[in-house]
Amino acid sequence: MYVLTCESSFDAAHFLTNYKGKCHNIHGHRWRVVLNIKGEVNNGMVVDFNDIKKDLKEACDYFDHTFIVEKDSLNKTAFDILNKEFLIRVVEFRTTAENFAKYFYDLLSKKYDVYEVLVYETPNNCARYICE
Ligand SMILES: [Zn+2]
Repeated sequence: MYVLTCESSFDAAHFLTNYKGKCHNIHGHRWRVVLNIKGEVNNGMVVDFNDIKKDLKEACDYFDHTFIVEKDSLNKTAFDILNKEFLIRVVEFRTTAENFAKYFYDLLSKKYDVYEVLVYETPNNCARYICE
């Protein structure tokens, strides 16, 4: 089996609800997403790197320079005010590296045989999702 690795990143703001610590406040990260796709070679390739690069970049660009908000984590008044000023991406999950790893895994598994996804929220901290 071969594993192809491709990475991309996005810069975004977020906060964690019900969290006692600094991450309760709005702050930003450069989220680094590392995608590993598994497979066997066919005519010398598992899949075309150009396709993987394009699809991973597109998935990351959706969040780039946005404010990522977990659904229903802001009251309506606050959300409406912020939504007038900023590009908000609402997600169904708590905005942790773990959940982003699963999100990208599920999204890209629609097209590729994904082995694992790693999401770094800092250069030193990474969550890895592997389907068992
Ligand atoms: Zn954070």
